[in-house]
Amino acid sequence: MPEGDTIAYAANRIRPVLEGRVPDEILTPHPRHALDRWPSRLAGRAVRSVDTHGKHLFIRFDGDLVLHSHLGMVGLWGVYGPGRFGSRPPRSARRAWIVFRAGDHEVVEFDGPLLELITEGRTRFDQRLAALGPDVLAAQFDTGRFLRRLHEDDPTRPLGDALLDQRNVAGIGNIWKAEGCWEAGVDPWRALGSVSDSELVAIAEAVRPRMLRSATAGHRAIQPKVYGLSGRPCPRCGGRIASRGQGDANRTTYWCPRCQK
Ligand SMILES: [Zn+2]
Repeated sequence: MPEGDTIAYAANRIRPVLEGRVPDEILTPHPRHALDRWPSRLAGRAVRSVDTHGKHLFIRFDGDLVLHSHLGMVGLWGVYGPGRFGSRPPRSARRAWIVFRAGDHEVVEFDGPLLELITEGRTRFDQRLAALGPDVLAAQFDTGRFLRRLHEDDPTRPLGDALLDQRNVAGIGNIWKAEGCWEAGVDPWRALGSVSDSELVAIAEAVRPRMLRSATAGHRAIQPKVYGLSGRPCPRCGGRIASRGQGDANRTTYWCPRCQK
């Protein structure tokens, strides 16, 4: 599933194409949104800004309309050069939920699962959005709110599972959960209540610069230390990296049992 850095990377690529201009053309090729009349509702409106909160992306238009997306497991935002989706489209045009053409660039959202056009007011009162924890990629990370949310969570919950909960912190997914716990030397299987505030803050502070780098340079910049490296030696202590499914969704967690305490 795309994590906060992937969404921020998409926003960083969309912004120079759309921000401050009226798209030349808007299409909704997928039948799902054929009746929503987005092209006519957005016609003539300039894009004011493109921003993100955790895994949510917002394209804000003049006249208080906001296109809000969540990519879930399968969605994709892409920016392509001349021609319909550039020279090598990643997915078929039928799977595109929305296409914005601006000059010789196209901004495309494929495969959802959530794409909606809402008013600016609704973004402030939407329950799902209001429930989100502080954005791990915010210029100023709200450490106080991060700790408050974790203190309110079930203290018996395994740390790794709590870090994936977007109500505690928005933007961390399976990769950064594993990498953050490794960086801070904390075992992701510990009960949340046994993890100190300084350990929790260390996890968030460790992933922020790495996620910000990935948001600018793309996925290649991630260079995982433990994620996806089960059975390989730990880069810190040489111990063998372990992996096991964790939490209700049974997402695989990676950690070094020797140096993560
Ligand atoms: Zn180790």
